[in-house]
Amino acid sequence: SVAYLLPFIEADKREGDSKKQGTILLATVKGDVHDIGKNIVGVVLACNNYEVIDLGVMVPANKILEEAKRVDADIIGLSGLITPSLDEMVHVASEMERLGFEVPLLIGGATTSLTHSAVKIDPTYKNPVVHVLDASRAVTVAENLLNKETRGKYLTELKERYDKVREQHYGRREAEPLLSFKKACENKEKCDWSQSVTQKPSFLGRKVFDNIDLHEIIPFIDWSPFFQTWELPGLYPKIFENPKFGSEAKKLFDEAQVILKEFADSKLLQAKAVIGFWAASGEGEDIQLYTDDKREKAFSTLHMLRQQMVRETGLPNICLSDFVAPKNSGVNDYIGAFAVTTGHGLEIILEKYHKDHDDYHSILAKALADRLAEALAEYMHKKVRTELWPYATEESLSTEQLIREKYQGIRPAPGYPACPDHTEKTELWSLLNADKEVGITLTESFAMWPASSVSGWYFSHPKSRYFGVGKLGKDQVEDYARRKGISLGEAERWLSPYLYYNP
Ligand code: SAH
Repeated sequence: SVAYLLPFIEADKREGDSKKQGTILLATVKGDVHDIGKNIVGVVLACNNYEVIDLGVMVPANKILEEAKRVDADIIGLSGLITPSLDEMVHVASEMERLGFEVPLLIGGATTSLTHSAVKIDPTYKNPVVHVLDASRAVTVAENLLNKETRGKYLTELKERYDKVREQHYGRREAEPLLSFKKACENKEKCDWSQSVTQKPSFLGRKVFDNIDLHEIIPFIDWSPFFQTWELPGLYPKIFENPKFGSEAKKLFDEAQVILKEFADSKLLQAKAVIGFWAASGEGEDIQLYTDDKREKAFSTLHMLRQQMVRETGLPNICLSDFVAPKNSGVNDYIGAFAVTTGHGLEIILEKYHKDHDDYHSILAKALADRLAEALAEYMHKKVRTELWPYATEESLSTEQLIREKYQGIRPAPGYPACPDHTEKTELWSLLNADKEVGITLTESFAMWPASSVSGWYFSHPKSRYFGVGKLGKDQVEDYARRKGISLGEAERWLSPYLYYNP
């Protein structure tokens, strides 16, 4: 596994250079900030004698292509985590076509997929586009692409595979019909507002939590995604029993504990949170926010999306707004919001590792800062449910139940399947003032910087749950654009991975 190999290959690399296999230029695209997976790909390639030039994060297309020319790159690799990056990758590919590039393009990162690469990226660039599923496969792909003997056969097979994926993609659309938006609205989730299901938060407006002690957050870490980052599949703590890589997982885990303790004791890494609560009502697919319980005039509106897929009998077409009481129910309901970060101070820690050419510890530190951000979100959520918006004061859950989110209420994050529009973070940021209060800024694609940050909404209703909105019809996207006061084209741009139709 990658985790196992890294420290060895790092040491090997320092000992001297053997013959170079080719130059590979890597970059996280404009507007996106995550690069752990890409860093691992870089190290693995470097260890296999490729020269790797990593341009870092938030790199605009023209910079990537200028550098590729300057260093005479043999392959360009693009990485991205959030959905707006998918479009940015299409843009880079079309620029490569326009400027007459011939080198292969590798695509990787969390929201990328074989389907997106085949359907959206591949048709815009005449030369090879390869979706790389994980770091351990990057070397084989690079070898196949650069070896003159295998390249032809590899590309023929790739083309056949992509043709099949495209066929399936377009075929599937016909097999999965969509409800009209009107029909979907009629089949909303019906919550019973007659019982007293709502609870007033202990304060309205926002509040900052500064200088949170990392020692308190560490127990809230969900370790399974940490191992996934290193391509060690399995659930914590069972993963330690795995006959193949259990002992390596344990070693990695023990090293992580040392670094975490350093983070917490030295106070180099700071944990900050801003949260807020507002009087709210769910009206159609919107959630209206009011400054107080007089609820006279909404000062802010959140725009949500509704599932339009054909549901089995009895199952609703859900929208997050269904979980907040409408004004006409006569029930006073509320919504919360949060933005947390454990990324301030990380750059200083990383600098030291970079100076020592210690990629392994640099990746480890980044992965742990990400874990801490999620843990802080979990920690704050518990505080909310039991103290600040005390609708679950009786809650008593084991750590495992907590990590599995077995509690009442949810914290959906804009950009994720229940509320996939990243631009809704604009409203979230104006409510929380997260730039000023906790120093989290948004890129042009609405990624958060520092990268180790998490944000979202709090819903308290017992029925509230995570779901995916799935594909959206033009009727809903038109309505959404109208409600948000933006053009249809603008709405389609941000919702592009979710459109049922070709705009
Ligand atoms: N313990 C995990 C938590 C992250 S994944 C970790 O440490 O990585 C779960 C989080 O992702 C949820 O708390 C929520 O914020 C977000 N999420 C999951 N499913 C979602 C959905 N369908 N829509 C919106 N947000 C979702």
